[in-house]
Amino acid sequence: LSPEAQEVLDEIEEENVDFLRLQFTDILGTVKNVSITADQAEKAFTEGIYFDGSSIDGFVRIQESDMRLDPDPTTFAVLPWRESVEGGSSARLICDVINTSTGEPFSGDPRGVLKDAIQRANDLGYEVNAAPEPEFFLFEEDEDGRATTKTNDAGGYFDLAPKDLASDVRRDIIYGLEEMGFNIEASHHEVAQGQHEINFTYDDALTTADNVATFRSVVRAIAAEHDLHATFMPKPIPRINGSGMHTHISLFTEDGENAFHDEDDEFNLSEEAKQFTAGILEHAPALAAVTNPTVNSYKRLVPGYEAPVYVAWSDRNRSALIRKPAARTPAASRIEARFPDPSCNPYLALAALIHAGLDGIEKELECDDPVRENIYEFDEQKREEYGITTLPENLGEAVDALEADEVVQDALGEHVFENFVEAKRQEHKEYLVDVSQWELDQYLEKF
Ligand code: GLN
Ligand code: MG
Ligand code: MG
Ligand code: MG
Repeated sequence: LSPEAQEVLDEIEEENVDFLRLQFTDILGTVKNVSITADQAEKAFTEGIYFDGSSIDGFVRIQESDMRLDPDPTTFAVLPWRESVEGGSSARLICDVINTSTGEPFSGDPRGVLKDAIQRANDLGYEVNAAPEPEFFLFEEDEDGRATTKTNDAGGYFDLAPKDLASDVRRDIIYGLEEMGFNIEASHHEVAQGQHEINFTYDDALTTADNVATFRSVVRAIAAEHDLHATFMPKPIPRINGSGMHTHISLFTEDGENAFHDEDDEFNLSEEAKQFTAGILEHAPALAAVTNPTVNSYKRLVPGYEAPVYVAWSDRNRSALIRKPAARTPAASRIEARFPDPSCNPYLALAALIHAGLDGIEKELECDDPVRENIYEFDEQKREEYGITTLPENLGEAVDALEADEVVQDALGEHVFENFVEAKRQEHKEYLVDVSQWELDQYLEKF
């Protein structure tokens, strides 16, 4: 037993943990659980826990369905809400998925896909740091406990009480996150009614992806305790701001220097930072399929709501795809990808962003000058003049772009790529055959 695993066993004792939830995510980013009793913990660490992978979306076919979960002891956390009747607590462990016929990491495990991306960065001499800014809405539930799109407050950006009625809920969410080991830096009411953002400290890319998965379940669970529904759907209400998940990224060298910082550069960005940026811009249309993977994602990526549409970077304005945030210390020099949204699979999204950026470094791609004007206001001619292209307009176009981009395909690996494309094509197709409320409003009485 490793020292980390032994520590977990001790904590299970101390914290009176009865149940352990072994977690992993499927290709679409949904957290899956296998629950074991705490006395199975030692066995879970030494032998792993076997499960049938054929019932998990996009995992495996029936004939090759035996999978094993290997819990990562560094991810142990007691859940801030009680689940067992006797009053003991529950804890979770995030797991790697192993293919039992080969004994190798399973190529369909998103966490494994991200580990491969990080390994590629390590091979080039870099550690990857990332920090996401997930936004979400809090909505009221109806009498049957189903989610509505009615907000329970009338606050606006950074508003204080008494208008920000949801601040109590936000406070409880923050306590819950802190109990699970999050270091919360800030939280505020976002631009839209009922919309919130909670920021936590940057970490290595794997921890950050684990954190996003955890964050979404904690926020939803604690909101539910207040009879509210928390949603990370990118655009729940038309014609007001949607929810993004801006993702800050920097590369550090093995001896802890920020490889993205250059004291002498006008933007304090190193050559590598610019090449990394150029890589993301180059692959943006294909990346969108992964970072903005739902039909609804593309309702957010429209001009006018602080979400990016145009493929460009900026050191100032927020209409660009990538922004260089002001940084007070060399360690804080970083880039902010503004297009991802919180409906993405955080493991796959980070993996794809890392590979695209590293592709930029390896190919020494050049970055155009930053665009300092509000690109929303550009007409087509001006965009052409600046060489600015646009993100895909819908999920179908994004999947087309993914199928045409080998770098992003390789980032996902064949197994995930194929299953992902199949699932997303199907999702878009279902949407296309549906008749929306907008159409009924427009046409039902007119024709
Ligand atoms: N909600 C905006 C988006 O969709 C971002 C707003 C902000 O953080 N300033 O990306
Ligand atoms: Mg923010
Ligand atoms: Mg925000
Ligand atoms: Mg931001």
